Amino acid sequence: MIIVLKPSVTPEQVIGFTTKLTTDYGVNVNRWDGVHSTVLGLIGDTTQVDIEYIEAQDIVESVRRVQEPYKKANRKFHPENTVIKINNEVSIGDGSLHIMAGPCSVESEEQIVQIAKDVKKSGATLLRGGAFKPRTSPYAFQGLKSEGLDLLKAARKATGLPIVTEIMRTSHIDMFENVDIIQVGARNMQNFELLKELGKIDKPILLKRGLSATIEEWLMSAEYIMAGGNSKVMLCERGIRTYETYTRNTLDVSAIPIIKKLSHLPVIVDPSHASGKSWLVEPLAMAAVAAGADGLIIEVHNDPPHALSDGAQSLTPEKFDKVAKKVFALKEALSNT
Ligand code: PEP
Ligand code: MN
Repeated sequence: MIIVLKPSVTPEQVIGFTTKLTTDYGVNVNRWDGVHSTVLGLIGDTTQVDIEYIEAQDIVESVRRVQEPYKKANRKFHPENTVIKINNEVSIGDGSLHIMAGPCSVESEEQIVQIAKDVKKSGATLLRGGAFKPRTSPYAFQGLKSEGLDLLKAARKATGLPIVTEIMRTSHIDMFENVDIIQVGARNMQNFELLKELGKIDKPILLKRGLSATIEEWLMSAEYIMAGGNSKVMLCERGIRTYETYTRNTLDVSAIPIIKKLSHLPVIVDPSHASGKSWLVEPLAMAAVAAGADGLIIEVHNDPPHALSDGAQSLTPEKFDKVAKKVFALKEALSNT
């Protein structure tokens, strides 16, 4: 971190400020006395330094970070990829490609068990399904809630597929104990109280990118979970809000290699919510795999026109089978290059 002090600063103020920085944050401070200004360079772990506090000081002209504000999620401090082992068949981040597939909402036992069987046959290694649904309208279907969780467990029992489902509030954490991966939805990416509580448990978290979150804000949310002691975090790019209205969101393909460069955490891509259109799921899934995604999360429904949520972006099991074949073939081709 580089701090430029105002020309009017006195030598006593510089010494007092430097001592405060050293004692409060445990950093070393290098000082350069120029003709017109004094510059301080903070050396060491500056993640704890409150940049707003520095900016608020009367003697400070400007301040700039030269190091990212996240540490545990940062590849600089953890060069090797994080691999999240779910069971003997599923290790996410180890170079293989995993697909989490299933309906937006769990609707009935028959529905979820049949879809689980179908997607497993096509190569999906995890079952996704919403039990608690964050809907834009309070009048829209809100999910089967705890019954939905029980039905997901029934589908896991029938197929062996680990289950991924979304949590919406801290008080539900105990209810999610038997879930394999807890999803934090886009709308809750900055629910810091929820993130802090999820940091205290030993369970993989799929952290979706907020609708208008920058990559750094998203990584800081991962840092919240990791700072509590839970390092099993996966980042899910699900499209961001832009001025384009043709698609539901805009898939930020560039976020995939950027996250891979900045962080060691696995990246999962959701082409369903990114596009909002079932016919766009295949090309976006292909783009995601080509850009280096560790996994995909895809909505699959047995009867999309009658789905209780997100039917327009849901693939039928037959269409999903074709998409899965193509993305696995692409992954194979890329592995041989
Ligand atoms: C979902 O996965 O069904 C969902 C609501 O996703 P997002 O949080 O990305 O909108
Ligand atoms: Mn959905």
